Amino acid sequence: MIARNPAFDNLAAGYLFPEIGKRRRAYAAAHPDAAIISLGIGNTTEPLTPHITAAMADYVRGLGTAEGYSGYGDDSAGEPPLRERIAAVLYDGLVSADEVFVSDGAKCDVGRIQQLFGSQVSVAVQDPAYPVYVDGSVMVGAAGKTPATAAGYQDIVYMPCLPENDFFPDLSVVKPDSLIYFCSPNNPTGAVATRAQLQQLVDFARKNGCIIIFDSAYSAFIRDESLPKSIFQVEGARECAIEINSFSKPAGFTGVRLGWTIVPKELKFADGTPVQAPWSRIINTFFNGASNIAQAGGLAALDPEGVQEMRQLTDFYLENAAIIKRALEGENFRATGVEVYGQGNAPYLWVRFPGRKSWDMFDRILDECHVVTTPGSGFGPAGESFIRFSSFGHRAAVEEACRRLANLKL
Ligand SMILES: *Cc1c(COP(=O)(O)O)cnc(C)c1O
Repeated sequence: MIARNPAFDNLAAGYLFPEIGKRRRAYAAAHPDAAIISLGIGNTTEPLTPHITAAMADYVRGLGTAEGYSGYGDDSAGEPPLRERIAAVLYDGLVSADEVFVSDGAKCDVGRIQQLFGSQVSVAVQDPAYPVYVDGSVMVGAAGKTPATAAGYQDIVYMPCLPENDFFPDLSVVKPDSLIYFCSPNNPTGAVATRAQLQQLVDFARKNGCIIIFDSAYSAFIRDESLPKSIFQVEGARECAIEINSFSKPAGFTGVRLGWTIVPKELKFADGTPVQAPWSRIINTFFNGASNIAQAGGLAALDPEGVQEMRQLTDFYLENAAIIKRALEGENFRATGVEVYGQGNAPYLWVRFPGRKSWDMFDRILDECHVVTTPGSGFGPAGESFIRFSSFGHRAAVEEACRRLANLKL
């Protein structure tokens, strides 16, 4: 018999969302009449928009003809027109088309990226964080040589991001030559790093030989013009950062699957060789390119009509977030000192229930409101006492959830 890859022995028990699903199903089985509403998982709910849908439908029809058919792309990095449009429309020329690597999604690229650095690299993550940074690092054998404790993986540096530090970490805890995962706008906290904060991060990385993996999957939700949508808006980032982004949240492509990664030419390993070359090798080895249908959709999403549609879609979810925020600032919440965070530039609200445990609040909100949320502790030790409310939902469901929350006895 063949042994399991020993790296898997070091994984902490249970991925967060399966555990939430388990509790939801158990509750539904015991209370068949409860009309459960989910403000939990960050999955999009609104339909694809007309212009983007039409472009994909046309492309599919073309595939059914001799002239319109195509198989593998010439390069796993994506169709040249899409790479050019991403560079031009989303980066205003701050990156060039040959630095854009089109993918089947941001999460998939976070997984592939980890192979670039192997099992010996040190890892630092914001705490709380999107689970794939930590679990993916452990699976490749990096930073998971010591089994996890309740406080997290002993070999991973957790950088607490709390209201007390304006959700920006104390970087002095990061070891030199680390891979630093940084997500802004942040899932789960909704916090967006300012330009000055990102400059501090980039300066730290350059001084200490670190590489930043910058996850900007929610950049399209930024409405405050002073906040950077890309780390490449910051001086020096081209020497120390990789940026990962996706059409999942702005265009509802969570099921269609399309994303991209920017690897700048200036980014180098310790031996002076460019990071781009092995990245190209990885994607040409393991990944034969994103779906050509999805790429046709991405191309349409970045023409003026598509950009307008993505704006409306993200506005819709931001309005949901504003509605939920008002409910969470109601009398019953305020009276018990509940703190609501979320600045209007992300589809999440991050809510602290002082003195309570995240999973206890999750169970109470499910039990009393029949609303599914996400317990903050599932994103890392600093998430304890917080609950994440997601704004992905149909308007009527969000409004009904808010009516129920207004009656929650805290
Ligand atoms: C949703 C999300 C993504 C997107 O992942 P895809 O694989 O592109 O669907 C990436 N990062 C974060 C933090 C997310 O919440």
